Amino acid sequence: PATEAGDANPWPEVEWPFDADPALEARIEALMARMTVEDKVGQLIQGDIGTITPEDVRKYRIGSILAGGNSDPGGKYNADPADWLALSNAFYEASMDTRDGGVAIPVIFGIDAVHGQSNIVGATLFPHNIGLGATRNVELMRRIGRVTAVETRVTGMEWAFAPTVAVPQDDRWGRSYEGYSESPEVVASFAPAVVEGLQGKVGAPGFLDGEHVIVSVKHFLGDGGTTHGKDQGDTAVSEVELARIHGAGYPPAIAAGAQSVMASFNSFNGLKMHGNKHLLTDVLKGRMQFGGFVVGDWNGHGQVEGCSNERCPATFVAGLDMPMAPDSWKGMYESTLAAAKSGEIPMSRIDDAVARVLRVKMRLGLFEAGKPSARPLGGKYELLGSPEHRAVARQAVRESLVLLKNNGGILPLAPGQTLLVAGDGADNMTKQAGGWTLSWQGTGTTRADFPNATTIFEGIRDQAQAAGGQAVLSVDGHYESKPDVAIVVFGEDPYAEFQGDIPNLLYRSGDTADLELLKRLKADGIPVVSVFISGRPLWMNREINASDAFVAAWLPGSEGEGVADVLLRDAAGQVQHDFKGTLSFSWPRTADQYANNVGQDGYDPLFAFGHGLTYARPQELAALPEDPGVALGSDARGLWFARGTPALGVMQAFEGSDGTRQSIHDLPAALPDGSLRMTSVDHGAQEDARRIEWTAAGSWRLDLNTVSDITPESGEGRVLQLNARLDKAPTGAARVAIGCGEACLGEV
Ligand code: BGC
Repeated sequence: PATEAGDANPWPEVEWPFDADPALEARIEALMARMTVEDKVGQLIQGDIGTITPEDVRKYRIGSILAGGNSDPGGKYNADPADWLALSNAFYEASMDTRDGGVAIPVIFGIDAVHGQSNIVGATLFPHNIGLGATRNVELMRRIGRVTAVETRVTGMEWAFAPTVAVPQDDRWGRSYEGYSESPEVVASFAPAVVEGLQGKVGAPGFLDGEHVIVSVKHFLGDGGTTHGKDQGDTAVSEVELARIHGAGYPPAIAAGAQSVMASFNSFNGLKMHGNKHLLTDVLKGRMQFGGFVVGDWNGHGQVEGCSNERCPATFVAGLDMPMAPDSWKGMYESTLAAAKSGEIPMSRIDDAVARVLRVKMRLGLFEAGKPSARPLGGKYELLGSPEHRAVARQAVRESLVLLKNNGGILPLAPGQTLLVAGDGADNMTKQAGGWTLSWQGTGTTRADFPNATTIFEGIRDQAQAAGGQAVLSVDGHYESKPDVAIVVFGEDPYAEFQGDIPNLLYRSGDTADLELLKRLKADGIPVVSVFISGRPLWMNREINASDAFVAAWLPGSEGEGVADVLLRDAAGQVQHDFKGTLSFSWPRTADQYANNVGQDGYDPLFAFGHGLTYARPQELAALPEDPGVALGSDARGLWFARGTPALGVMQAFEGSDGTRQSIHDLPAALPDGSLRMTSVDHGAQEDARRIEWTAAGSWRLDLNTVSDITPESGEGRVLQLNARLDKAPTGAARVAIGCGEACLGEV
């Protein structure tokens, strides 16, 4: 509704679904009357189990702990779930131990259960949100939330940092796959279902009981709208657009009773969200009536102007209730205490924040629950990856698959055939699971880390056998006797957050191994089905052209069998399951079609939002143009390509902090004025960037004339822009090498 003529408030009003509860308020008041300012401040701090001990929790009366992506208390991926439960117990008991004074308030333990309880070996792993978005199945989201809550409770935690309701608008963003869709409508329809699955339904039996967890709807606000899709960057949009696109998930999640919201790393028009009073207080807690608490993101407060990881009164003043201070908890405790005592943070604000946290803990029944192992699901390890739970995930996999090409009706595959299953994703749980799996980046796992899972190959093998045929695994695609059909499973390796940011939407254009494999099999006269694993749509026309059928499988998680359910007919020749998935993200027509999302003017994707073939609705796909374009250089909006011009090579490099990730692009490039500009995203130490140097052999020379920061170093990441100039047009093959040590040497 308009507040004044011509001045419509873009933010919807929301009704917080809890009536004022005098008994609850009286209880909180009584509890707070016994709390010292030290007790209160402790209640507002969250530390990470990597650096905080139960003894710290007891001594400082710390209110919350988290296990961040890299927390692995019992060794490599903590294979024994009992270690997690023991840890939960120890922290709980410390919080209830008042031998040195203080008030007994149970600690609350949060974890990134973002695609199932994905931190625990043996848990059910659901497809990442991008795949779930493709299902459009809201009811299924409720069941997924429910299973995730149950498996989270088994090991003692009572808080999932989920759901992510980001509405990614630029797929270069490394967190695109954490979003359900580029469409605010899809996100808004999913958000309340996931919240209710995790927490239970307000007013219904079971709400926030021992089989449910509290949620953190994240990341508030505008995480999916940053310039260039840069993680933790700036979202430079109008407030109307912020509300309409990025805000869409919050009103329905709040109306469904979401108990916490997580603030985002990004800024909104230059102002970091952790310090944005207008949005945290006036909009979220005011207009939207959000009555839970606002938790910070990992040292996100430290990015607020004038703050450090150890000190940030401004974040509390802005309306944040519980900073996530993983390794900085002690500094934050001490500085916040001082700021509360001096009045820099008004005591009324501290009291409001404490009351919000206590309300949630009471609603959750934590004061009566006893230690985690004594709660209804504590220690029921048989529930982790149980057949019932895995069946839900398998259904999600089936429904998430999007069929983009099926020429000649090659799918579904007839029974009794010999199938060659190839590609480095075929028998690869690490790739299938993606980021946020057992470790933050999801890398470094082995098959043994997924005891209750099936790879895509295993699913195909078992079902082919059951249908009287056979499937042979050969990652590199070599075979003894010619198969009837080849299924090639390939795609992106896992990544999380900024380490997944990319400069353009090309799929590995410098590394053509997958393409060559597809072409080789086709040249042998074998029909080829591609199953593409990825956290986003990418430009890969050559791979699509080289495939008879092409399936976008996203990041399917633990149930590889779900893929076989759809691709293979049963023994009687019947289709088991038709495709149901439709794109929740538009597929790019070109590598620089960065922000081409449904609902925008001039919308012109290769495959539109909502596209997806089925067996019932087949359609032949004509050959796609294969010219990836010419990198012309970048401007403020990104790296740009021109199509149809012949010639040279341009290289872009992407390095993670470990120096291992890279993307080298062998684009033909003819530059009208001879100038080149390359963007290199460097999230590591500054030295990584310094080590980048360009040399070129042949009849031309590439001079690096500028290396400039286009964003000042902030936090762990920065973007470097390399400006170079070609002083002579090429006459033959060019060679450009990037010399930053063995690990990241590449050339075109
Ligand atoms: C991420 C959050 C996550 C938190 C705790 C942050 O880096 O942005 O989504 O919940 O870490 O692991």
